[in-house]
Amino acid sequence: MIRDSTSARRDMVEHQLRRRGIRDERVLEAMAAIPREDFVPGRPAAYGDEPIQIGHGQTISQPYMTALMAAVLELRGSETVLEVGAGCGYAAAVLGQLARRVVTIEIVPELAALARDNLRRTGLDKNVTVVQGDGSGGYPKLAPYDAISVAAAAPDIPPALLDQLNDPGRLVIPVGSWLDQDLQVLVKRGGRIDTHVATGCRFVPLRGEEGWR
Ligand code: SAH
Repeated sequence: MIRDSTSARRDMVEHQLRRRGIRDERVLEAMAAIPREDFVPGRPAAYGDEPIQIGHGQTISQPYMTALMAAVLELRGSETVLEVGAGCGYAAAVLGQLARRVVTIEIVPELAALARDNLRRTGLDKNVTVVQGDGSGGYPKLAPYDAISVAAAAPDIPPALLDQLNDPGRLVIPVGSWLDQDLQVLVKRGGRIDTHVATGCRFVPLRGEEGWR
């Protein structure tokens, strides 16, 4: 049975997000509003508590992970954000509701096209630009970024991403092996960088120059 998507979203926000400690009301509001089923293939499963295959060996993250990554960036609405790994464009749509401008870069051409289509169809493309290419070294053209979200696992933090991060600025990135990583949060402030781990996680590998070659 396909439930009404508004109530499925409300359940997702309450059970998967709020109950697990996501407190940023703007993140909760954005995820309660955006039709996730319009971004993933297989609409009935769109609000499940797990990643979903989107083709080309890639996945859309579990809703909790999208929420956590957005929340640790502490966006207030004035920021320029870079996302690496657009996938189907859902996280970019969420970030677009939280910041002034989002640039998301995707290495798989078909997925970049999918993200672009999904964002346009849902009308969430006004302040979100999808770029096709290798984002492992960031996207210098529009730097600096007040926040950077990397949605694929890196062996190490690519130095170019730190260079393109504004001061103050925040970067969230899964760092570790192919099979498991730490979701690291880096806060740049006054020329200093503080790092903490938000959670353990498992992302698809970051490819490209600064990723797994
Ligand atoms: N942000 C998505 C999740 C995407 S999964 C969401 O809304 O849930 C990670 C994505 O990163 C995949 O689509 C993969 O193709 C992409 N990717 C991997 N390496 C990349 C690179 N170097 N540059 C850009 N995208 C990359």
